[in-house]
Amino acid sequence: MYVIAKRFAFSASHVIGGLAAGHPCGRLHGHNYEVEVELRRPALDVTGFVRDFHELAALKAFIDATLDHRHLNDVLGHDRTTTEVLAKWLYDWCKERWPETAAVRVGETPRSWAEYRP
Ligand SMILES: [Zn+2]
Repeated sequence: MYVIAKRFAFSASHVIGGLAAGHPCGRLHGHNYEVEVELRRPALDVTGFVRDFHELAALKAFIDATLDHRHLNDVLGHDRTTTEVLAKWLYDWCKERWPETAAVRVGETPRSWAEYRP
């Protein structure tokens, strides 16, 4: 199996709804998020790629236009703005374009991340 991955970054604010009173994530705050998309293929294409990295620039453009310096509750249209939910949302966007998409990982700090992998 061949595996490639590419990492992107954006900054955004959010509030996670439904938390106990006093939970810090229930207050308005922001993160410098990191997004990593992973693609897998058992065999390479004729060029020798899993997927040309240049094609993945479309994800950067989407992140820049849709997520960067935005309020995630507005973008997603609800208050379940956890990194888990964000990872699945971005996975669906990628999978629709690149069938080789295997997982999307979203980090909200350098030491904590969530991944969606079917
Ligand atoms: Zn947060």
